[in-house]
Amino acid sequence: MTDSRVPSFTAELASFAATGRLGALRCGASLAELTAQYGAPTAWGRVFHQDRWPRWYSYGSLELILCECRRLKSLSIPVWRGELELPGPGVGELRAVDSRITESRLTAALADADVKWTVLTYPNLHDQRTLRFTPSEGVWIEFVLVDRETYDEPVLDDWLLCKAGFWSRPHDCPKTG
Ligand SMILES: [Zn+2]
Repeated sequence: MTDSRVPSFTAELASFAATGRLGALRCGASLAELTAQYGAPTAWGRVFHQDRWPRWYSYGSLELILCECRRLKSLSIPVWRGELELPGPGVGELRAVDSRITESRLTAALADADVKWTVLTYPNLHDQRTLRFTPSEGVWIEFVLVDRETYDEPVLDDWLLCKAGFWSRPHDCPKTG
């Protein structure tokens, strides 16, 4: 199905960086909200062996962490895996998106969305840099870029998006009983 109303994944990522929302996926979204929008996510179990919560879930390629009060705390988009499947548009549906996104395309889309970011570089990781966004207080989005397709490949002039996601400041979950 082609639907011209659905923006390209690059534009979706720019909007995600600007608003902190990727569709219904945003920091603090409840499991009930997400289930109403996309169907029940796949449950993968505990993040920490010794604690019942938080827990991992997934929608297609997207990896989610929900806290004890069943709210979305972190989202990871493993772009390096190649073709990505995102939830939607319908309940229980998945849609494939082109995940090969160059830095120039990404930053052009970010400029269009009028969003500001800081660039993080690492003294001992010359083949990687991170664009960091703060869409709201206590929520951070990062887009990690790498300098080549795989280790065997030559270094590219235009770097590639490797992973994206958000995380948030921990909170004390209200007792759910
Ligand atoms: Zn909580």
